Amino acid sequence: MNKIEHIGIAVKDIDEANKIYKSLLGYEHYKTEIVENEGVKTSFFSCGESKIELLEATRADSPIAKFIEKRGEGIHHMAFSVTDIKAEVKRLKKEGFVVLNEEPKKGADSKLVVFLHPKSANGVLIELCQDINIGTNSL
Ligand code: ZN
Repeated sequence: MNKIEHIGIAVKDIDEANKIYKSLLGYEHYKTEIVENEGVKTSFFSCGESKIELLEATRADSPIAKFIEKRGEGIHHMAFSVTDIKAEVKRLKKEGFVVLNEEPKKGADSKLVVFLHPKSANGVLIELCQDINIGTNSL
C-alpha cells in the first residue's frame, strides 16, 4: 500500500456537501464525475497527498443509497493506492481478506478499483486503487 488515496463519504446531497467541504477545507472541489456502473455521482477535493471523495447516489439501487438508508450519511470507505492491484489482491486473499470484485473495475478519477468486504477489516469497506495509466498492459 502506498498511501491513503482518499476517504469516501456518502452524502445525500452532493451540492450541499460540496459547500460544507469547501468551508471545511477552504477551497473548491477540483472535479465531479458520474460513475454510471456504480450509480454514483462523485466530487473530489484534494488534501495534501490524499483526497476526499463525496458520493451521492444517482439511483435507488445504488450501493450509496443502500448505505445511507441503513447507516445514514458518513464515511463509506477508505481507499489505498497500490502499484500493482492484481498482486495486492492475490496477497490479501492469502491473508484471508474477502475480495468483493476480483477483477479490477473502472472507478472514478481514472482508477482501477477492487473492494474488500468490511467484515474483513473491522467494519471498514476498503478500496484498492491503481492509476489506470500505469501498468494496465497486464490487465
Ligand atoms: Zn473511492
